[in-house]
Amino acid sequence: MNDYFLNLNSTNNTKLIKEMYQYAKANDVPIISDEGLIYLLQLIRLTNAKKILEVGTAIGYSAIQMASISKDIHIDTIERDIDSYNIAISNINKAKLNDNIHVVLKDGLEVTKMDLMGIASYEYDLIFIDAAKAQYKNFFNLFTPYLKKGGIVVCDNLLFHGLVGLSAEEKEKNITTKNLKGLVRKIEEFNDWLSKQKGYKTDFLKIGDGMSVSTKL
Ligand code: SAH
Ligand code: MG
Repeated sequence: MNDYFLNLNSTNNTKLIKEMYQYAKANDVPIISDEGLIYLLQLIRLTNAKKILEVGTAIGYSAIQMASISKDIHIDTIERDIDSYNIAISNINKAKLNDNIHVVLKDGLEVTKMDLMGIASYEYDLIFIDAAKAQYKNFFNLFTPYLKKGGIVVCDNLLFHGLVGLSAEEKEKNITTKNLKGLVRKIEEFNDWLSKQKGYKTDFLKIGDGMSVSTKL
């Protein structure tokens, strides 16, 4: 999105949000893109989503942004990294959103139903998947049983810095390591798999780093 449109959008500009944004940029924390955030927040307003599950808290930036929409939004969010978890907790305290955001310190793949008995508790209206890219299919299969019918799954970074969906030739040029090659293949497999899920209607959007929005039918 060009800056002209971005500047026309009103965004949450509290001191804390500005500090978190700057911290993320300075420390390479991969927070959601400005455009992706605007879209996600509007999706929450439009669908009146109140119970949200997030996979990948990082420093709590997207969780705090989502919870700031309305006092009756409750978010369970999962983070495996202890340092990120501690920063997120401190930011959530500063935002006075302790009653609205519950952080589960665990690997997403090990999260059980019990862990999700937090403040949002399952029967989620929306699930935001934004953690280890190679695990998206596993996260999707693990958490969508807790999504209500008509609920929405949003996945972030499906274009992975523009490396996903390149021609074989462009890939050869731009993707140098074996690890990266494997990861890109995994994301492409996931996108393909997601597009074919019969129980969902999915849109793939060129927003930020590539986002999918799926409705549970
Ligand atoms: N949603 C955040 C950004 C998340 S960045 C925002 O937009 O503000 C991705 C985060 O997912 C990282 O903090 C990373 O530690 C975490 N993560 C990666 N794999 C994970 C896993 N398997 N389980 C839990 N957290 C994971
Ligand atoms: Mg992301």
